[in-house]
Order: sequence, then C-alpha cells, then structure tokens
Amino acid sequence: RQAQFRSLRDVAPLTLDGQRIRLQMNAGLMVDLPHLAESGAEGIGLFRTELQFMIASTMPKMEEQEAFYRNVLKQAAGKPVTFRTLDIGGDKVVPYFRAAEEENPALGWRAIRLSLDRPGLLRTQLRAMLRAAAGLELKLMLPMVTEVGELKAVRELLQKEVQRQSKMGENLPRKLQFGAMLEVPSLLWQLDELMNDVDFVSVGSNDLFQFAMAVDRGNARVADRFDVLSKPFLRMLREIVRAGLRNHTPVTLCGEMASKPLSAMALLGIGFRSVSMSPTAVGPIKAMLLALDTGKLAAELDPLLDDSKSTITPRQLLTDFAARH
Ligand code: PEP
Ligand code: MG
Repeated sequence: RQAQFRSLRDVAPLTLDGQRIRLQMNAGLMVDLPHLAESGAEGIGLFRTELQFMIASTMPKMEEQEAFYRNVLKQAAGKPVTFRTLDIGGDKVVPYFRAAEEENPALGWRAIRLSLDRPGLLRTQLRAMLRAAAGLELKLMLPMVTEVGELKAVRELLQKEVQRQSKMGENLPRKLQFGAMLEVPSLLWQLDELMNDVDFVSVGSNDLFQFAMAVDRGNARVADRFDVLSKPFLRMLREIVRAGLRNHTPVTLCGEMASKPLSAMALLGIGFRSVSMSPTAVGPIKAMLLALDTGKLAAELDPLLDDSKSTITPRQLLTDFAARH
C-alpha cells in the first residue's frame, strides 16, 4: 500500500465531482521536512515552533530560531510554510520555562496568553521569522486565541518588529499572511470579527474538541468516550466553513481529524477544501478523496446534521457511505 500511495504523489487532488482539495502536512522538526517532497503535500499547514524549544535544554536564542526557520524554508523549497508562534503550556512542557504549578494547565497560562505576557519572547520569535523569511512569503498564525482583541496586540508587536527591521535596512518578507488558530469555542461567537481581522483561519480540532466537549485530550478514559464525528462537533465545524465562505476567508483544519480517512471524508462532506495532517496520512487521505463525490456525501450528511429527530449517527452514515462507495 505504501507503494500505491507513493504512486498517487503527483496525481492532482481532485474529488470525483471535481473539487480541488488542498492537502498540506504538519511538521515541527527538521526530520519532518523530507516528507514534504515524499508525500506530495502542497506545503506545511502547521509548523509547531514549540518543538525546537521542547528539545532544547536552554531557551533558543534569536539567532538559533532564525537559523532554524531559514533552514525550514530552504528545505521547503518554495512550498508555503505556516509557522505557528510558540504554543507552550498545557500539554506542551518546556523544562527551563516552568511557571508555577497550575491546577488546570490546559485552561491556564499558555500559548498566546503567555506570549502576550512575555512580549520580549514573542518579539524575539517574530523577529526571527521576519528575518528568516526575508524576500519570501511569511505565513504566521497564533495558537489558542480566545478573543479577537488578542490579535490586535500581536499585530502591534509585529508592526514594531517590521519597523525595526526596515529601520535597520534589513530585507523584509515579500508578503505577510497573518492567521489565527480556531481552537477555543469562544471564537465561534466572534466568527465574523475574527475572519475580518485575519488572512486565514486554521481549525485546531484537537483542542477545539477538548474545550467544546469538556474532555481532556490526553485522558483516554474520557477522550475515547466522545466522537469527533458526533452531531454537535460536526455542526460546529460546519458553521466555521460557512463563516469562511461568507467572509471570503480561507479556512483550513490542522488537527488529528484530518489524518483519518473517515473523519477527513466528513470534513470534505461539510465543506472543508483544505486540510493539514501528519505526513504519513497524506497518501491515504488522497486515495480517499480521489474516490469521493463530495456533493453526494453532502446531500446525505447535511440533512442528517439538520435533523434533530434522526436516530442514526453521523458516524453510522459516514461508515455506510464509505462502504457503498
Ligand atoms: C490542535 O489543537 O488541533 C492543533 C493542531 O494543535 P496542537 O495539537 O499542537 O495543540
Ligand atoms: Mg492546539
């Protein structure tokens, strides 16, 4: 099957009904980069910059961060890379950056919250990204955004760094794309404001599921009990797709859901046209989409999501649909 997936690498990612699907991969370390060419992914939809911090024994300096990002962009050889700013805290522990013990670390001082409270840390990282992407396109996104106002604060820091670079006569990125991860449910009631404010949105379904369903993503005792293919979660995701269309804002999804054929199929059925996944999933997901008619699936899935009386679950419908096609 590996050989079969490899043979699909250069096949256009078109569904049976002609929908063009953007398949990207997730990465975080240099060892991930060769998979970009091997898998045929169009780019890196999520680059987890905290990995460099997690494997280091001391805080990486600006120069080290810059060299690392520069190397990533070089290895990506022109394919787009979406860098996510530091997402530490919660389940992502950086040993030399230990804050006080928190009773609920997932809900605590982490990701963009930590970055805004330690603006020096964030500015260093933004500077490293701006420098590494000089003359290229820089796509960056923020993790764990809870209120749209947080983005304004980051934008101001970014603007300061841009001005600093140009004052010093340094080359700037040719183009800058500013995005947000959608993984905190509060953003579901700020969708239009959010989409007006950013160039793109990337759904972090791992955390969105954890927070929306109140299940610890790392606790098998409860995490396995609820289904990403359940009605409430799929309805939630469908609202996000609709908001993207309404606001002409590109929407993608980079959580684990995109890596599994059945749930990726569900995503295409509710309207996603761009997903980012683990590198090994690109082949299997492409095989799935080449055999999928998204229109036919939507014609069955949409009514089920709208139906409050039906006793069949979306998972049952999807499994049955996959078996029939
Ligand atoms: C997510 O939350 O879905 C996500 C992609 O980010 P991470 O898994 O790094 O939290
Ligand atoms: Mg997340």
